[in-house]
Amino acid sequence: MPDFIDDITDRDPREMAALIDIARGDAGKEGLGAPVCAWCDSPIPMARRLAMPGCTLCVSCQEDKEHLKERG
Ligand SMILES: [Zn+2]
Repeated sequence: MPDFIDDITDRDPREMAALIDIARGDAGKEGLGAPVCAWCDSPIPMARRLAMPGCTLCVSCQEDKEHLKERG
């Protein structure tokens, strides 16, 4: 299981409820991450979309992108 999911599930349940409320309010808006990865078309988990509003890449592709950036 990816680390970011552990990070989310370790949170206070009240904080999770607040995040879910935010997600409901933002459903269909650009504030929530994309449902699928822009690079590989893999579904992006809701936990990641909540944790990273505006994200368009899955964890794997995001890491690839970071590595590309590091190399310049
Ligand atoms: Zn991807």
